[in-house]
Amino acid sequence: MELLSRLPDWLAPLAVPLGYLADAGQRLHWLYLLSALAGAVAVYLLAAPGPRSLRGLLGHCFPAAVWRHRSARLDLLYFLVHRITWTALALPVLAAIALWTANDLRWLAGTWLGLPPLPAAWQAAAPLASALALLLAVDLALFGAHWLMHRVPWLWEFHKVHHAAPVLTPLTAYRFHPVEETLTGVLVSLASGGTYGLLAALWPAQLEPARLLGTAAGTAVFYLAFYNLRHSHVWLPYPRWLSHLLVSPAMHQLHHSSEARHRGRNLGFAFSLWDWLAGSLYVPRGRERFRLGLGGEETAYDSLAALYLRPFGQLRRRQPRAPTGDGEAQKS
Ligand SMILES: [Zn+2]
Ligand SMILES: [Zn+2]
Repeated sequence: MELLSRLPDWLAPLAVPLGYLADAGQRLHWLYLLSALAGAVAVYLLAAPGPRSLRGLLGHCFPAAVWRHRSARLDLLYFLVHRITWTALALPVLAAIALWTANDLRWLAGTWLGLPPLPAAWQAAAPLASALALLLAVDLALFGAHWLMHRVPWLWEFHKVHHAAPVLTPLTAYRFHPVEETLTGVLVSLASGGTYGLLAALWPAQLEPARLLGTAAGTAVFYLAFYNLRHSHVWLPYPRWLSHLLVSPAMHQLHHSSEARHRGRNLGFAFSLWDWLAGSLYVPRGRERFRLGLGGEETAYDSLAALYLRPFGQLRRRQPRAPTGDGEAQKS
């Protein structure tokens, strides 16, 4: 972005968060936000009760109860602070892990495993097939990390930071504790690097997974398909058959529910297929009403310091009971 390159030095850190709006690899790219807005408008026109009006449309898309909520302001503050520190400290390490894994697996596949390269005639399928393989591999790694976050009591303490939001905004998608981001980042780096390495062994000649908007095609399509509505108040379910394959915005909102019937359900990121196989799929049969958050505990996560530090305090509190497991812990 031309504008960003002209920021005065003292404003330079802002370039990191602002850059997300122009980076198609990020969920906040302006086109993904625009597609979410289009989805919200379509939901208003097709499903909202009562007469339509411009005032009604604005109230539907930007309700004051959400956007003026303390949690929405905290989402923004956490995003600004955390993106700057995280980008500087962790991303280079995670990128290095992905690269090492890709190179090692490519070498292993080509030597130890004796994996033969595919015939040249198959090369035409390489861009689409490799884009799909990468999307599936990364999605499975994300599902695995999320599953662990809900099943392992000490990891759940860190994942609560994400579930503590009592209202959902697109920035809630970035409200993750650094411990969770590290674990997820390592798993995703291993999965993407490993898959890329194997693909490079199969299609050695110029492996180039399909790209869209300058990023992985699968990622761009997924984010364009109303991704940002999943962290919003807009209820958008998919047809029942499609909900067994892909996670709809409504299904992820149910994942944030504090109701017992929804706990630990819909752990998938792009594909709900994994939830279906693991028995954690929950497809709503109609509009459901539920409270978001942690059943009251979310009020304790109401500051930047609490988001970073409370999980450690909770772990200390748990410690004496740790050897026998912990009762209140996991939300299946
Ligand atoms: Zn979760
Ligand atoms: Zn979420």
